[in-house]
Amino acid sequence: MPVLVQLNCDIRIIKFIYLMLKRPLTSAARGTAMSVYFLKESDLTFFLGRLLASSPVIAPVAKKSKFVFAELGSAAELRLDYDVTLLPPKTAFFPVKQKLLDFGPDGPKSAITPRKQVLFGVHFYDIKGIDMLDQLFAEGHRDNNYLANREATTVVGSSIQKVSSRAFFSTVGTDVQPRGHDAFLTHVTAGYVFETRTPKGEALISFGSFEKATAAQIEEAAGVNAAVLKRCPEKLEHSSELIAVKVRNAFANEELWTDLAKDCFSCGSCNIVCPTCYCFDVQDRWNLDQVSGTRHRTWDACLTNDFSKVSLGAGGSENFRERRGQRFRHRMMRKAAYLNEKLGGPACVGCGRCSAGCVPDIADPVRIINRIVGGRHGSSV
Ligand code: SF4
Ligand code: SF4
Repeated sequence: MPVLVQLNCDIRIIKFIYLMLKRPLTSAARGTAMSVYFLKESDLTFFLGRLLASSPVIAPVAKKSKFVFAELGSAAELRLDYDVTLLPPKTAFFPVKQKLLDFGPDGPKSAITPRKQVLFGVHFYDIKGIDMLDQLFAEGHRDNNYLANREATTVVGSSIQKVSSRAFFSTVGTDVQPRGHDAFLTHVTAGYVFETRTPKGEALISFGSFEKATAAQIEEAAGVNAAVLKRCPEKLEHSSELIAVKVRNAFANEELWTDLAKDCFSCGSCNIVCPTCYCFDVQDRWNLDQVSGTRHRTWDACLTNDFSKVSLGAGGSENFRERRGQRFRHRMMRKAAYLNEKLGGPACVGCGRCSAGCVPDIADPVRIINRIVGGRHGSSV
C-alpha cells in the first residue's frame, strides 16, 4: 500500500477512536441500571392493562405472517416473540407523514403536538437505531418536530426471542452500546427481568406487581441476552473501523458499484425499512384562498431516481446521482463510512430489513461489505 494511503487510513482510525472516547455517555450506556425487578409471566397482562389505561402503548403485533409496531388495543395483542417488524419503531416519533406547521396571513403556527406514550418491546438493535436518530436530529439545527415526540415517549426494550432470517446485529457496530431507552425487559424462566434505567422507566413499576429480582434471575437474563448474539444467521467478518476504511477506499471503483446495482430498480425499499435512515421531503399544500395552508414532511429515499434532482430554474434540472450505481454507492457510504465518526460506529444496526425487503435481493450490507473487504463469504475487490 502506498505510504500516503496507509497514513490516511491510520489517521482515520485514530480519529475514530478519539471520537468514540470523547462521546458523552449516559448512565444507560455505562450499564448502570437504576433497579432490577422480576415480573411473573402471569402478571404481564395485568401490568400492560394498567399501563394501557394510563397512556397509549405502541408495541409489536402480528400483521398476517409478519409483525408491525402499532398501538395496542389490548394486552393480548402484544407479540414479544416477534423476529423483526416490517418498519422500525422510529414511526412512533418520526411518522411516515408528519404535519409540521399551518400557515396563513398571520404567519406560521407550529403543529408540534407531542403525546405521552410508551414504546414497548423494542429489540436492542432498534434501540441503537433510535439513539442514532436522537443524535442526528439534535445536532446543529435541532429538529423539534422529532425531539418533542421523542421526549414524550418512554422506551422499553425487550430481549430477542426469535432471530430474523437476515439479521447480523451481532457483528456490526459491536462497540456501540444500546442507550437512550428507559427500561429493558428480558424473558427468563417463569417471567421477565425488568431493568429500569431512567426515572421514566422507574415510574412504570407502579403499574405492575414487580418484585426485586434475585441474583440468579439477573444472571439468567444476562445469559439470555448474550446467547442471542450467537444465533445471527449472517455475519460481517471484519471490524467496523476496517470496513469504514475499505468501503470508503472503494468509492472510485465505478465498475464495482455498477455491477452491484445492475439489478436495482430504484424502488427505495431498502431506505424505507431502515431504522437509521432519516431523509425526508417537505411539501406545502396551499388552500384555495392562496394565503393559507399546511406544511408536511414525508420520508424520502436516496435510492430513488429523483432524490438527487435539483432545479436549475426555467424548467431545467440536474440530477447529481443519476446512475443506479451512484445511488447504491451513496447508501453504502452513508451506512458504513460517512456517519461513523458522527455516531461512534456504523449507521447500520444489522436488523436485516433491507435484505428481506429488496425484491432482487441485492441490498444486503453483509454481502456487499464482504465482497468489498473480502473474507470467507466474499472476495476483496
Ligand atoms: S430495495 Fe433493492 S431494488 Fe429497491 S432500491 Fe434498494 S437495492 Fe434497489
Ligand atoms: S442498512 Fe439494512 S441491516 Fe442496516 S440498519 Fe438499515 S435496514 Fe437494517
